[in-house]
Amino acid sequence: MDQRSVSPHVLILPFPIQGNVNSMLKLAELLCLAGIQVTFLNCHYPHHCLLSYSNVQARFSRYPGFRFETISDGLPMEHPRTAEQFLDIVDGVKTTTAPLFMEMMISWCRSTSDTRPPLTCIIADELMTFATDVANEVGLPIVFFCAISACSFWAYCSFPQLIEAGEVPITGDDMDRLVSVPGMEGFLRRRDLPGSGRVNDAAYPGLQNIVKIFQQVQRAHALVINTFDDLEGPVLSQIRDHCPRTYAVGPLHAHLKSKLASETSTSQSSNSFRKEDKSCIPWLDRQPPKSVIYVSFGSLAIITKDELRELWHGLVNSGSRFLWVIRPDALVGKDEERQTPAELLEGTNDRGCVVGWAPQEEVMQHPAVGGFLTHSGWNSTLESIVAGVPMICWPYFADQQINSRFVSHVWKLGMDMKDTCDRVTVEKMVRDLMEEKRAEFMKAADTMATSVKKSVSEGGSSYCNLGSLIEEIRLLSA
Ligand code: UDP
Repeated sequence: MDQRSVSPHVLILPFPIQGNVNSMLKLAELLCLAGIQVTFLNCHYPHHCLLSYSNVQARFSRYPGFRFETISDGLPMEHPRTAEQFLDIVDGVKTTTAPLFMEMMISWCRSTSDTRPPLTCIIADELMTFATDVANEVGLPIVFFCAISACSFWAYCSFPQLIEAGEVPITGDDMDRLVSVPGMEGFLRRRDLPGSGRVNDAAYPGLQNIVKIFQQVQRAHALVINTFDDLEGPVLSQIRDHCPRTYAVGPLHAHLKSKLASETSTSQSSNSFRKEDKSCIPWLDRQPPKSVIYVSFGSLAIITKDELRELWHGLVNSGSRFLWVIRPDALVGKDEERQTPAELLEGTNDRGCVVGWAPQEEVMQHPAVGGFLTHSGWNSTLESIVAGVPMICWPYFADQQINSRFVSHVWKLGMDMKDTCDRVTVEKMVRDLMEEKRAEFMKAADTMATSVKKSVSEGGSSYCNLGSLIEEIRLLSA
């Protein structure tokens, strides 16, 4: 007997930055394809960017059960939003979005005149932990979404034990000393700890704040993580010991692509906040197969002019071809200091191409791309893994420090350049990645790319986990 009386209707609440909105939109689309109604509650700024530079509106118009709603994050539209202002965004959602969300949900859930079907579940970004109080107030189950890797999630969850053992906060300057995150004891060093676990990671919310966030997240009804079992199986089982309903459904962009491939629609799923400079695609078309190293540090990381120069000299001296994304707001300093030095742009000749923002998923899949110099943001890491492209990691903050350790030490998909940026090291690493050690990295990258395909295909782990998540969401509305 079918007991389902209300059709499932999920409210999705992302943290307002590029990587998180991007992956939650992919999850939203996967749920829409399964016939679940979705309200995507986006902050004004990302929503405005998406409408200006991506094709989301056209793409989602094919799902009658989908709609966007917007809410304020308390910051003016013109507020800069690089890693330097990350805490402003955290603060904004806490002081402005949280109370507005409470009001909005009380009015939606208690209104008798609302024509929309009632909500049956909230899926909130793990950085929007205030959603727990709101969910409790209106009597809805809460599921948290991790836009970060399972290894970083698990390291954050282990902070209370590390604090108790006196390992965090770090004292002294031996950053290579091992730390005892369960399951990572033999290889995780202090310098690999995510977020405020590292003394110098000042741009991330304070330690006690982090502890609270992750304790709260573990108490949710379920967890959805953008990863897959073949990549992070051992860590996922540690997490599942604490949160049995943990669904690893990623890589979401590959999963969505696989589901859409079985349809006639061929819509490209760009969720970009910035105008993509597509001129790099014809440039890539002219380069030999696997000859180009793609260089990009995501949407938030900032670098100094000195670092930029060291990277540039290292790249040029390596003799490799490169495609480099230098965002207009990527350089530390005020507007006038933010100009990329002209000699760098002119000195690339035709071996280098520089753009302000690239269609990254398309770039990663291009046959000319053979390596990725990345900041190890989780979306970028997954995009590289899916494309079978090995990496040089130069992490900036948050989860990136631990992701790069896993890329190099555990998955053997590249090298970790953490805490170093000099032209000699850059040159050597690029040569190793693109020439000397190419065969070994390519072997590991090909194997992992094959695992991805299996996991998102019928019967694969992410495919089945998504099925279980959908079933769970349906049960919540019964
Ligand atoms: N991205 C892009 N074009 C660029 C640089 C980045 O489309 O020129 C996208 C990239 O594909 C990824 C996201 O921006 O999906 C960045 O997310 P990630 O988690 O890697 O890093 P973050 O920006 O959060 O540091």
